[in-house]
Parts: sequence; structure tokens; C-alpha cells
Amino acid sequence: CGIVGYVGHKRAQDVVVEGLRRLEYRGYDSAGIALVADGALAADKRAGKLANLEKAIADTPLPDSTTGIGHTRWATHGAPNDVNAHPHAGESRRVALVHNGIIENFAELRAELEAADHHLLSETDTEVAAQLLELEVLAGADLTEAMLRVVRRLEGAFTLVAVDALDPSRVVAARRNSPLVVGIGEGENFLGSDVAAFIEHTREALELGQDQVVTITRSGVTVTNFDGTPAEGQRYHVTWDLSA
Ligand code: GLU
Repeated sequence: CGIVGYVGHKRAQDVVVEGLRRLEYRGYDSAGIALVADGALAADKRAGKLANLEKAIADTPLPDSTTGIGHTRWATHGAPNDVNAHPHAGESRRVALVHNGIIENFAELRAELEAADHHLLSETDTEVAAQLLELEVLAGADLTEAMLRVVRRLEGAFTLVAVDALDPSRVVAARRNSPLVVGIGEGENFLGSDVAAFIEHTREALELGQDQVVTITRSGVTVTNFDGTPAEGQRYHVTWDLSA
């Protein structure tokens, strides 16, 4: 339901949790976070209020990181429990992914993965995308190329945001019939399902078009269409009054 992505110079955990708090107004049943630290994913996810996740990561702190993603879930496929909460990782825990929306052809993709002996942990439509993305990365694609290959196989409405444990320099996202906005900072960049996710950090935003993939690094934002051709988002200045 709500999505946050961050790469920059601040503590990603703080930026992600604050962003999720700002998105709480949309309603949700679970919350989760994944960070990239020391070549590994560090993640936690909990059913219930964001406060449950905050308590969990206060009790068992996540490592310092400047690259992370977060999610508040409104369950459509699978009960609202800890396992079905996002982020979802691939089997090798190389890639973590969060998703808003519905992947309509997930049952076929799940059957294909299971036939190839890949084990899925959750009941979500989302986990197939995490597994497919990881398989592309393990086969040698960078996360951006991997995302392009996966979205071409998906049907439905989705915003996807992902990180690769071995590439802390980037966060990659995609959108089809589901919202995704980039927040442009100085030495840091943001992703959000809406500008509330990053408005306390920047008011410079980039709205993506349909069927686009975006890669953010500390210093840049690159947008392409699903066919890989270069694209540009729509730049705008957010004029919201935060106190309203
Ligand atoms: N369909 C996904 C799920 O049920 C994502 C739901 C959402 O948009 O939060 O996990």
C-alpha cells in the first residue's frame, strides 16, 4: 500500500521508517524494511501497526546502512501475517523487493518457479517477482536490467522497488498502473508511492510515466521504458503544506 526507497548519506532505517509513518494515513495491515549492509540484506517485517516493526528493530537493531526500502501492506493475496509482509527476498537472499498492487499472472509464474525447484515461503503474488528478479541478478544482470526483464513478464498493476545485497549504490523501481514518485535530493535520492514518503527531505519530485523503470543512486536518477529505451519523468515542485 505504501512504499519508500532511499539511497544517500543518511541512516536509511530512519528515512524509511519516517517515510512509512507519513504513509500510514493510507491504511495498512503490516510493515517491513530491508537494508543493504556489508554485502547482505538486513530485514524485518511484522503484521500489525508500524509500532510493531519499530519495536522489533529496537529490540534487535539492524546494521547501519544508507540504502534501504520499506513497505506498508494492504493484503490482497495471503493473510496479513509476518511471512506475507513485505519485503520479500529471493531464495538466496540476494535481492529484496516490495510491491504495491496485484500481479495477475502470479499463479503461472509460481508454478514455473516451483517446477524449477524454487521454494516460495509466502502466499503472496509478490514473492514470484522477488524470486524472478533474484534469478536474473544471479545470472549476471545488474538490478536495473534484471528489473526490466522481470516487468516484461508481469501482468497487472504494480509498483515494485528492489535492492541487491551486493550493490548498495542503487535502488531500482518500476511502475505499471500504480503510483511511483522520485524525490530528488542532494547526494541522496528517494522513491515513494506518494510524495509524503520523502517530503521532509526534499520537495523536488519526478513523476514517472506508465511502464517505466527508474534507478536511483546517491547522485543520479535514470529512467527507461519497459522496452529499455531512455525516458524522462515529469519534474515538479511539491507545494504541499506539511502542517495541513
Ligand atoms: N498484492 C500484494 C500483497 O498482497 C501487495 C498488496 C499491497 O499493495 O500492499 O501482498
